[in-house]
Amino acid sequence: MTCDVCHKNEAIIFQPHSGRSLCKDCFFNDVKERVRKEAEKQGILNSRKVLLAVSGGKDSLVLVDAISSFISASRIVAFNIVEGIGGYNRAEQAEKLRKYMETLGVQLVSTSFKSEVGYTLDEMVRSSEVKGMNVSPCTFCGGFRRKLINNAGILYGTDLVATGHNLDDEVQTIMINLIRGDLSRLIRLGDVPIKVSGKFVTRVKPLRKIYEWETTMYAYLKGYSFQEVECPHIVNKPTLRAKVRDLIYSLEEERPGSLLKILEQFDEISQKIRSNASFTELPRCEICGDPTSYGRRICKNCELLIRSGLLSQ
Ligand code: SF4
Ligand code: ZN
Ligand code: ZN
Repeated sequence: MTCDVCHKNEAIIFQPHSGRSLCKDCFFNDVKERVRKEAEKQGILNSRKVLLAVSGGKDSLVLVDAISSFISASRIVAFNIVEGIGGYNRAEQAEKLRKYMETLGVQLVSTSFKSEVGYTLDEMVRSSEVKGMNVSPCTFCGGFRRKLINNAGILYGTDLVATGHNLDDEVQTIMINLIRGDLSRLIRLGDVPIKVSGKFVTRVKPLRKIYEWETTMYAYLKGYSFQEVECPHIVNKPTLRAKVRDLIYSLEEERPGSLLKILEQFDEISQKIRSNASFTELPRCEICGDPTSYGRRICKNCELLIRSGLLSQ
């Protein structure tokens, strides 16, 4: 079968959401063009400098590969964090990343929870368990990762920080916020970024319209060697996200293109809601000075450390 786009090469990929069969090159071009469109809306094309948060997984490699194909490598800082999770060797992955970034000419900066927060993720989780807290490791991990990424964006003077969240991640997050009834988080998820604090570097997600299977296929066809082992915390403790993921996969299987439609409809709705909403500056944490949610005195990260006995008030 020949490719539905170039009508020349042999098609090797079927895209259920578009109904097209594509050759390798046309598939790469299709993904990059969809990332470029999203990056344009999010202001990446006109930014002076952008920080790309990279874990070494397939999504982050596609992120750097796509973004560096349309903006110069000198405007990109890749940023990697080693969380310190036993059996999940991010350090080894960081080395693979370093070599790959070298080939693209992109600066890679690496850090760890241990050096920035004072504790590995495993140490934080162990302390919280000793204190009898029933908090998911992902709550610690996500919160401190966001903090470190934002701090790095400020330190390296970037206009934006971009993460490798894909379409599946984004739709899961929308559904989770809907289930929790968290409207203020929900409307921050639209396609055009909004700034909720002068101390937050604006966060963008250029892969938000790319299916997870597409990032996997892209990385595989490029011959990337990426971490295939899942984090032990997600294996051991199924979360609401895992349940939502199963739900939306069965929907997508029955009706290909559903995830894209959900996101496109959501973007339209969120634009309408945003046009009537006003955003006021977030309050600052009394301990670390980071922005925190309305009505809070201390940010969630500091609160987690205090409750785990790792920070005194
Ligand atoms: Fe962190 Fe693992 Fe949770 Fe991912 S699954 S947020 S790496 S603890
Ligand atoms: Zn083709
Ligand atoms: Zn704080």
